[in-house]
Amino acid sequence: MQRFLRAGGYYRHDIDGLLGPLSRAALELFEADGANVRSELGAFDKRTESTLATMLVPTQRAARKFMAATGGAGLTSGLSARLISGTRTFAEQDRLYAQGRTEPGNVVTNARGGQSNHNYGIAWDVSIFTTAGKYIDALAETGQMQSKDVAAEYVKLGPVGRAMGLFWGGDWAKPDRPHFQMLDNDQLPTVRDKFLNGGTIV
Ligand SMILES: [Zn+2]
Repeated sequence: MQRFLRAGGYYRHDIDGLLGPLSRAALELFEADGANVRSELGAFDKRTESTLATMLVPTQRAARKFMAATGGAGLTSGLSARLISGTRTFAEQDRLYAQGRTEPGNVVTNARGGQSNHNYGIAWDVSIFTTAGKYIDALAETGQMQSKDVAAEYVKLGPVGRAMGLFWGGDWAKPDRPHFQMLDNDQLPTVRDKFLNGGTIV
C-alpha cells in the first residue's frame, strides 16, 4: 500500500508497513483525487468502481474514458463491458501464477509477482457481460455461446484502447484480449525500479 501510494506521488516517507498517520493522510489524498476523477468522468457499475479504486489515478482516468468509449465499440446488442481486475499485489500475482501449475484450475497468467503491469496500478482487465449479468466467457464454457463469437466481442474493444494510446494485450504474440495497460511491456524494468526504489510511475 505504501509503495503504491509512493508510486502515485502521495507518500514520500519510509516503507515500514505500518498504516500510521502519514500513510493514512496519503491514502485520503489518493481517494480524494480518485473521487474527483469519478465526478468529472462519471461512475460505472459496482464491480468496475471497486476495480478502478485499485489503480493509480492517471490509470483511473484512462480507464473511465475507456469504459465510456466501450459504449460506441459496436458490441452486440445486450452486451456491455465491465472492469473486473485492476491492481494485484506481488503475492496475489504469485497465487494467480500457481493456478493451473501447482494449484488447481486453468493457467490464467504467465507472469509471476512483479512481472505484470497489474502489479503497478497501470493495467486492467475488461470483461463482457450480458444484460442478465452473465459473463460471456462462462457462456462459451457451457456451450451457450461459441468461443469465436466471444473472442470477436473482445476484439471490438482493442481499437478503443489503441485509439487512446493504451497498449492492448490482443496485440501480443500470445494474445490477452481483455487486457489493457498504460505503458508498453519494454517499460516494465523501469516501472519496477520506480516502484521498489521510489518514483512516480504514471
Ligand atoms: Zn491483465
